[in-house]
Amino acid sequence: MADTDKDTVKVTAYCVKCRKKQEMKDAKEVQMKGKGGPRRALKGVCPVCGTGMFRILGKA
Ligand SMILES: [Zn+2]
Repeated sequence: MADTDKDTVKVTAYCVKCRKKQEMKDAKEVQMKGKGGPRRALKGVCPVCGTGMFRILGKA
């Protein structure tokens, strides 16, 4: 079986500094507290400029 445990999914997010979508580096799933309860989000950095990126996945 292939090593599917590793998170190799490519995630893109909009980088405000590059002003375009970039592949998120070191993407980690985090939970943030929202009005309707916890929400899942991805946190990472832009591979080009190193700016923090954030992408909301939806409700947990
Ligand atoms: Zn960038």
